[in-house]
Amino acid sequence: MYNPCRIYFADNALQRARGFVSGFGTKAFIVTGKGSALRSGALDELLAVLREEQLGYHIFNKVKENPDMDLVMSGAAEFAVFDCNFIIAIGGGSPIDAAKAISLAVANKLDKANLFNTQSFRTAVPVIAIPTTSGTGSEVTPYSVLTDQSSKKKAGFGSELAFPKLAVLEPRYTLSMSRSVTLHTGIDALSHLLEGIYSNKRSSLLYPLIFDGIKTIYEYLPLVLAEPDNLAARNQMMKASLYGGLTIAHTSTTLQHSIGYPLTGVYDVPHGLANGVVMKSIMDLYYPAVAEVLEELFSFMEITRTKFYEWLEALELSMNFKLPSSFIEERLPEVLSSRNMANNPYDIDAEDIKSILMGLE
Ligand code: NAP
Ligand code: FE
Repeated sequence: MYNPCRIYFADNALQRARGFVSGFGTKAFIVTGKGSALRSGALDELLAVLREEQLGYHIFNKVKENPDMDLVMSGAAEFAVFDCNFIIAIGGGSPIDAAKAISLAVANKLDKANLFNTQSFRTAVPVIAIPTTSGTGSEVTPYSVLTDQSSKKKAGFGSELAFPKLAVLEPRYTLSMSRSVTLHTGIDALSHLLEGIYSNKRSSLLYPLIFDGIKTIYEYLPLVLAEPDNLAARNQMMKASLYGGLTIAHTSTTLQHSIGYPLTGVYDVPHGLANGVVMKSIMDLYYPAVAEVLEELFSFMEITRTKFYEWLEALELSMNFKLPSSFIEERLPEVLSSRNMANNPYDIDAEDIKSILMGLE
């Protein structure tokens, strides 16, 4: 097990972690999206800490959902122009993943063609991650997922150098999420936890985190959707998301993620929703390979698999359109060749994937 990231998960996490913030450099490059850093309250609190610690900063607030490689290159250029020496990401997985890639691009003088070439990574600029969603767990993973705008292909890289040095998890920052962002990101966290069971890198060392995380989402996702201001429930969802990140940092993801990438790349289906619409089919597909662990999970949760499927259905996850068969034919090679396919519990063939995609709407 290896997770070289200092984690603060608490009320007022930023205040508690502030002693470490000044250890990474003198001028922070703050990577965020347009609105969430402000709406969540995280940016104002961070700027107050930076001023008190007498640290400089420059704000790069251009990250959109599903960041692309051009955005990363423009971030790397701006980092240099403003003479920054460490990075602080505030936001969901999109700003955090962009920040990791900017860090590696700057430190290794990468051009766009080499962004995924992990062999050329020698060093990294320190990254502090402050999540404002409870979903990706990117604050504790060695992955960055980026989109190639020209091919609309979403792909990622994993490198030990991409682990953030410090993760500051403050549940309060997630109170401002809309209903749909809360739902979709919560389902992403659930996917990561389930994939910790499906992956052929699964380890029983992780099961306490995985089982607790899934049970937590089962109980608290419906509650947080009904009561968005319930901070205790937001706290539980953030814990589950953290457990999901710690899980996939070790097990990676599987077909459950690969199959959703083209839905996001081509049709902008939110990442968590793309995982959610195939969740039942994937569990059906993998069940024979991991039945023992899944049954252990359901008995821990005191439910059955049927009950879990009913819970999932009640969330009404839908793309509201049917995929054209041309899309399925075109994008199948992308799914089959994605990195995560190496982690499936058994060999998945093109027919398995086609039948899942054809059932979607
Ligand atoms: P996101 O794309 O970062 O954000 C989605 C939306 O939510 C944005 O409009 C964002 O606004 C808004 N938002 C975020 N926090 C908010 C808050 N507290 N209040 C109000 N609005 C808020 O969503 P995400 O699901 O967290 O990240 C998805 C990305 O992460 C995908 O690219 C996915 O592939 C990747 N991912 C990475 C990993 C990993 O290990 N690295 C794992 C899974 C997924 P702004 O635009 O204003 O920020
Ligand atoms: Fe994910």
